[in-house]
Amino acid sequence: TTDTPPPASAAPELEGWRHAYSGKVRDLYVPANDPATDVASAGRLLVVASDRVSAFDHVLEPGIPGKGELLTTLSLWWFDRLSAVPNHLVPDHSLGDDARSAIPAAVAGRAMLCKTLDMYPIECVVRGYLTGSGWKEYQQSQTVCGIRLPAGLANGDRLPEPLYTPAWKAPMGEHDENISFERTVELVGAEAAEALRDLSLSIFRTATDIAEAAGVILADTKFEFGADRATGELTLADEVLTSDSSRYWDAETWRAGGTPEERMASFDKQIVRDWLSTHWDGTGTPPELPADIVERTAARYRELLERLTA
Ligand code: ATP
Ligand code: MG
Repeated sequence: TTDTPPPASAAPELEGWRHAYSGKVRDLYVPANDPATDVASAGRLLVVASDRVSAFDHVLEPGIPGKGELLTTLSLWWFDRLSAVPNHLVPDHSLGDDARSAIPAAVAGRAMLCKTLDMYPIECVVRGYLTGSGWKEYQQSQTVCGIRLPAGLANGDRLPEPLYTPAWKAPMGEHDENISFERTVELVGAEAAEALRDLSLSIFRTATDIAEAAGVILADTKFEFGADRATGELTLADEVLTSDSSRYWDAETWRAGGTPEERMASFDKQIVRDWLSTHWDGTGTPPELPADIVERTAARYRELLERLTA
């Protein structure tokens, strides 16, 4: 009926902006005065992080209160720490007086104003530790994404050195697919492929050191890059080093050892994944998250931000 309120997760209408796309977590807008209606052809982009949470490629109910703001704050903080790397944020000083280009109050704190880049169709994954799908593969074949590793590693162990394991960014709604470095060369050319790899590893190393100083392990993460349309410059895009795009663990509990769960006490949505994998068989609609799982997840997201930015 008409008086039913929209679901809390729906992309809000924003004055001066036209909604162009919603991913599982983020809502993308283009300027209303831009003739482009799709994300790729607009000049600018408003990336709004919602409180939606996804696991195993499903958006769950309810959302995690404050998550959109925490992720945005964390992204902005990292962009700032990584100031040597060109990024997609529109600098404040170039906003001018045009009110339409400002961030609407309704989404303040969880929106980033970005320049649209020509995105590379590659998810630049870097892994510093063995876990998740990497651990699964390692148990079968002693490899991660086809890369041979020493024998005898356990779930949660540090890798001898960070691994670049790119994935092909599948079109909207499809699953991303792990690909070899050689395949990325075929997709974007040798020069770009090498630059993506080298920059990903370099950012990962810098971020690892920053996190370590805060008592936090950056276990793995995913970057996305694009080319600046005016200069062609390789530019860091999307969200960066958030607890949605990364796994973070507590360094102290990891060092203390114990069960994999204890070692990998995480600051991300692992709590949600763990709960869901024991309460859902993967068919039909996932069950609603209980209040304590929601609150514990929110607390972990908050704690990560507090630790890193303290
Ligand atoms: P999902 O997360 O649901 O799998 P998704 O990754 O497509 O789908 P989101 O992450 O919610 O959706 O939305 C962000 C989208 O915006 C991504 O497709 C990302 O590649 C794109 N993007 C991020 N920054 C830029 C940018 N500066 N220019 C162009 N596209 C960008
Ligand atoms: Mg995404």
